[in-house]
Amino acid sequence: MHRLTLVVTHQCNFDCDYCLQCHEDKAMSFETAKTAVDELQTRMLFEQTAASTVHLQGAVMAGVPAPTAPQNNSCRVDNQAQISFYGGEPLLQKDLIRQVVNYSYATIGQELGAKVLYEITTNGTLLDEDFIEFAKKRNILLALSHDGAAQDPVRHDRGGNPTREKVDEKLDLMLSHFPGTIIMMTVHPKYAGTVSESIRFFHEKGVRTVNITLAHGGRVDWTDECFEVLSSEMEKVEAMYEEWNRGEEQFRIVPFENKIRRFICQKDADNPTCHFGRKKVMVDVDGKYYPCNHFIGKEEFAAGDLASGIDVAKLRDLEARRIEPEDCKECAIRSRCHHTCACANHGHTGCLDKVSALQCEYEKLIIRLADKAASELIRPENTAFVERMYKE
Ligand code: SF4
Ligand code: SF4
Repeated sequence: MHRLTLVVTHQCNFDCDYCLQCHEDKAMSFETAKTAVDELQTRMLFEQTAASTVHLQGAVMAGVPAPTAPQNNSCRVDNQAQISFYGGEPLLQKDLIRQVVNYSYATIGQELGAKVLYEITTNGTLLDEDFIEFAKKRNILLALSHDGAAQDPVRHDRGGNPTREKVDEKLDLMLSHFPGTIIMMTVHPKYAGTVSESIRFFHEKGVRTVNITLAHGGRVDWTDECFEVLSSEMEKVEAMYEEWNRGEEQFRIVPFENKIRRFICQKDADNPTCHFGRKKVMVDVDGKYYPCNHFIGKEEFAAGDLASGIDVAKLRDLEARRIEPEDCKECAIRSRCHHTCACANHGHTGCLDKVSALQCEYEKLIIRLADKAASELIRPENTAFVERMYKE
């Protein structure tokens, strides 16, 4: 999967208490976005051509007749591309998003024959029926940022007004069109005690997937007391997760799902998800490349730009700095822990290779609770859960 994220604006109509964005008045032009899409198309075409050459050489060497030439000029590409739109609030740039989706659908999708997936995480306020119809037509996955019971105290608009009522309405709208709508919930330490109430609210609304992440950075302070509250809330969430995944029922808490799936598949925790400096590029409003969302606007992490190309040496250098912390080398759960996630580490500690005490404790908590849930749920009668966990 080739992943391209376009930062279409730095602006936002919200002013969340934990937000680390600077909200400058900068937006991406269509020319910049088009160049990024063209570059993605070129890379995909190049890879496909290289793969075909290797295939042909292999066939000749094995004495197998070469395949006949294609009947038309189109070069069919097996792989997929994912284009994500990021902000600020990406829907402030709805017209640009439509242009980019239509353009990439015509070029990468139709000319190249690749499957293009689109993804937008939005605060929901600017969603309307018109854009939802467009999202349906082009298979855009919409995820909603919503902090549940902590929405009003934490996620205000730029005038300082509460936003929950409006976002709840948008959640209903989204669910009526996309029953699989994903919620992206961020936990602010001051409101850690509302996590289970929020999860119950989402379940009652009909949501079936919630991702939970912890707010980090200089604007929040995770004290030991806050973490204790979070731990007891996550115990309650684990009990709900067990209850709502019995029989044919399904309810995904993404951090639990990831830990269970990766254990079953025997995959290292960071490899399949973290594409830092490897398979994933992010283009900022001004055309600069970054290896990951977290580093947007941090000049020392910029890795080239659309005009001069990706700075491969810089990416290699960043990747080389993403080394395993000493303290983790002997840890029994190291293969299931995100301790080499450069973005999380940098967000919490300012270093790519240093895990915060919070992150370490959170990983241990999530792995313990995920294992508890798995030991209860992996039974023949819980068909939906078992099928989901063991699917390829
Ligand atoms: S909605 Fe997102 S970008 Fe906007 S202020 Fe909140 S966290 Fe920041
Ligand atoms: S749980 Fe803590 S010590 Fe173990 S690998 Fe993760 S961060 Fe390192």
